[in-house]
Amino acid sequence: MPGMPPRDFTAVDRKVRMQIESRGLPVRPPEERVRDFDEAIIRLDEDWAVHEASRCLHCADPAPCQKACPAGNDISYAMWLIENGQFLEAASLYRQTSSLPEVCGRICPQEKLCEGACVRGRKNSPPVPTGALEAFCTHYERRQKGVHIPVGKFTGKKVAIIGAGPAGIACAEQLVRSGHWVTLFDARPAPGGLLIYGIPNFKLPKKVVFDIWDDLLRAGVTFVGNTYIGPRITVDKLFEGGYDAVFLGLGTTLDASPDLPGENLPGVYKATDFLIRANVDMDLLPHEMLARLEVREKVVVIGGGDTASDCLRTALRLNAREVTCLYRRSEAEMPGGYKDRKMAVEEGAQIHFLTQPVRFIPGADGRLAQVECVRTELGEPDENGRRNFSIVEGSDFIIDADTAVLAIGYKPDLIIGTTTPGIETHADGLLKADQHTGATKRKGVFTGGDVVTGPHLVVTAMVAGRKAAMAIDRYLGW
Ligand SMILES: Cc1cc2nc3c(=O)[nH]c(=O)nc-3n(C[C@H](O)[C@H](O)[C@H](O)COP(=O)(O)OP(=O)(O)OC[C@H]3O[C@@H](n4cnc5c(N)ncnc54)[C@H](O)[C@@H]3O)c2cc1C
Repeated sequence: MPGMPPRDFTAVDRKVRMQIESRGLPVRPPEERVRDFDEAIIRLDEDWAVHEASRCLHCADPAPCQKACPAGNDISYAMWLIENGQFLEAASLYRQTSSLPEVCGRICPQEKLCEGACVRGRKNSPPVPTGALEAFCTHYERRQKGVHIPVGKFTGKKVAIIGAGPAGIACAEQLVRSGHWVTLFDARPAPGGLLIYGIPNFKLPKKVVFDIWDDLLRAGVTFVGNTYIGPRITVDKLFEGGYDAVFLGLGTTLDASPDLPGENLPGVYKATDFLIRANVDMDLLPHEMLARLEVREKVVVIGGGDTASDCLRTALRLNAREVTCLYRRSEAEMPGGYKDRKMAVEEGAQIHFLTQPVRFIPGADGRLAQVECVRTELGEPDENGRRNFSIVEGSDFIIDADTAVLAIGYKPDLIIGTTTPGIETHADGLLKADQHTGATKRKGVFTGGDVVTGPHLVVTAMVAGRKAAMAIDRYLGW
């Protein structure tokens, strides 16, 4: 790569490196971090970074960590640069394959991706903390010299991006580099998608996202917030208004409903509503979410994904006395990342496995007072290898709870699919697209991220946005 110091792993002695012990991640103790919404990891320093990076074994090229990274980050080379104190170079390396390295470094489920593939792990040694090192060097870069997106010569082409989440942001970042005029529309007041309106500050401080946003603004990207595309301003109208291509990074914004008696009682919250109202500053809140949450003493969170862990940890920070997760399968089937779940438990949350709520029961004041549950048992795996469950007859029991949070999944909003001629959707409303380019059947309309895959990860949405940007570039003739 031009301007980068050459890599030379010939002198790397893997046996010696295996002896270098990890210093571990400096994490704030649970009893301290649960008192605020600040990040759980203490700021990493240069000495720590050099030490941890020097534990990398520099496996055969491409290394297993790189193969496991959906963005294809050249992690081994980045570790080499960090080990040699070349933090700025490592940051530029990450920025070649990722539009959101400071975000992915913090919240990717690394244990399932790069760190899960680290060869050290197979030899009973903690993996190289590649995620934290990615966050470290990109933060270092921002503090030392700032981040500047190189903007291409203006092509005269205009692209509208609908949805300013990871997919839309990544697509915008790549398109301005190519010199296109980019406008991002979002229904929410601020850009970021779930990075702002979902993921809590203790996992991802909002400042990290706003800094990325400032980079894009300086590069000339325009943001139009509070603008719900579909009913009045349609995709057709955007084309009529002079846009040459449209990218749909719509995410899956609607909370799935359990369809249970009592789910609309006061005290029963949908996860999105709960997380946004607890974690977003008043001036960035949509109007309908301005009222503060009323969380009392006993909170139950229903679900087993990342959202459930975030709700548990948020409830603990809102001073609930007892916070319990109800999950209908066992821990092995939980879709959420292990790290967040472990932190939730360390902070005081309990998890009741093989437990399914069947009814929310009001108290004398009309607010939620109890949740009726049943026990479940696991059966055979389904076609995806995930074990099914069945209800144990006569196993009903009652849990006292004054607050419940429903974190059972998300589904797509159907508005764009139904108001845009030529767009094809699956039965569940997810958009159909070419998996390599994000092209839909409608000429000039591309898509990617959760609205295509269903709820997934920041990194996969980001990669989809970048791939679509390349395809849009080709479509526009550049
Ligand atoms: C609580 C929670 C915690 C999570 N934790 C993690 C984690 O730790 N690690 C991880 O990798 N992933 C995590 N995820 C998943 C991750 O956030 C998503 O996979 C990712 O944000 C998807 O990006 P996206 O751009 O496709 O959609 P989104 O981030 O959902 O953004 C879509 C945007 O489109 C806008 N929009 C939709 N329709 C319209 C319309 N018609 N007009 C205008 N705007 C519209 C929405 O307002 C939204 O801003 C989490 C998700 C949740 C809900």
